[in-house]
Amino acid sequence: MPFNSMPEALHNTLATGPQKSLAALLALIVVLATLLAVPYAGLPLPVVQPFLPIFAATVTLTESLTAYLLLVQFMVTRQFFLVPLAGGYAYVALMASIQLLVFPGVFAPTGLLGANTQSAVWLWVFWHGGFAVLLGLAILAKNASWHAELSRRITAWQGLLVFLLVPLVALALAFLAIRLEVLPVLISGKSFSSLSHSAVGWVVWGLNAAAVLLILLTRSRREVTSLFLFIALLAALANVSLTLLSSARYSLGWYAARLLSIVSSTSLLTALILQITRLYQELAVSHESLLITSARDKLTGLHNRGSFDEAAKKEWPRAHRSAEPLSVVLVDIDHFKLYNDHFGHLQGDTCLRSVAQALAGSVKRPADMVARYGGEEFVLLLPNTPQEQALRVAEKARLAVAALYIPTKFADKNVSISAGCATWHAQANYQNFQELLHDADRALYKAKENGRNQVRAVG
Ligand code: GH3
Ligand code: MG
Ligand code: MG
Repeated sequence: MPFNSMPEALHNTLATGPQKSLAALLALIVVLATLLAVPYAGLPLPVVQPFLPIFAATVTLTESLTAYLLLVQFMVTRQFFLVPLAGGYAYVALMASIQLLVFPGVFAPTGLLGANTQSAVWLWVFWHGGFAVLLGLAILAKNASWHAELSRRITAWQGLLVFLLVPLVALALAFLAIRLEVLPVLISGKSFSSLSHSAVGWVVWGLNAAAVLLILLTRSRREVTSLFLFIALLAALANVSLTLLSSARYSLGWYAARLLSIVSSTSLLTALILQITRLYQELAVSHESLLITSARDKLTGLHNRGSFDEAAKKEWPRAHRSAEPLSVVLVDIDHFKLYNDHFGHLQGDTCLRSVAQALAGSVKRPADMVARYGGEEFVLLLPNTPQEQALRVAEKARLAVAALYIPTKFADKNVSISAGCATWHAQANYQNFQELLHDADRALYKAKENGRNQVRAVG
């Protein structure tokens, strides 16, 4: 499986087939639901009191989560466009929760925070206008020529500071909507037809339409993030259109618009969760392959020294617990320096690989381990193996190497190995594994002294 680097995997990934199908399905649902609701948009429906709190809580929660995930992505990838994007979602989370507080009839007949009758509707204007502006800015930034350079230079703290401007603006606008009675009247009772027919309504609609157009025109529209942003913006445009068409709270269009708003707020979150799930799977795969490669010797593919040390650390106490013998065989290629000097290091490496394969083929039990100890030395770790058996395995290994018939500089000699064997058993007097290994080394030295190409044990 191709594995992107982590920051790369978080953005710029092209949408897969299933992701495109999911996005197309969502777009179809949004368009169909809107078209179905348009003729009945103004139809008054009963006031369902829990609807607004549930809606606002859902939007606040999903938008906060989305903002958080996008901000974390920014911290990791430093892609600047994620700052206004995260800002857009944080902005909506704030606006939705503040609007809930001031909405007439939810917590108090005229709303909390000293709200007036116009506060909630102006918050709606700022909410939906601001969301389109911030997402539009994010899309423009992502496709701007300066984006790559800015992303390289910006620090996490600078990005966070820019992000924090958003809640400040949100709070300032909320203050304007709630405490300053300078804004034009847009609603009377449940009817906000003056909003629908005013320039304010058209500006909000225009900003949302422009954001949809913008994302359709960008180069990055085939990327996962952009695809689900498109759905979010399309649902936002449908939401604004239906709200303006409905002209009254608790009408069919008003309810439908709020449901579309949930599609808008969950679509990018869905994409982010899908992306995180995929990253998680890739992480597990790469972690596993990293574990395998870090335990292997690059040249021979055998276990490496670190892996052998780990195994010895486990087998030594296990042998003591079970009182089963533990054998170690140290193997060294004879006159390998001469071989290298004569044939060169590249052929030396090829020879090392062949010898390693022969050694690996000489052990059969799953618990046996063959590792490259270093240079042209190898080690066999043989749990539950008494000395005679270990000597037999070592001899088999010696014969396997001899059977490779690798020529040396001397016409009458092939590459050979010497091996030294030591075994721990219940009556043996070893204090630790190092002492056992040291004895195997002594045995190997004896094999070398005795003329090489042979197997020896201590004692
Ligand atoms: P002895 O029979 O006493 O073991 O003699 P030797 O020449 O094998 O022993 P020595 O320790 O003098 O030389 C070991 C040589 O192994 C030195 C080096 O050239 C070679 N060697 C060690 N690691 C590698 C390796 O990764 N690749 C290659 N090609 N050669 C290696
Ligand atoms: Mg050596
Ligand atoms: Mg050697």
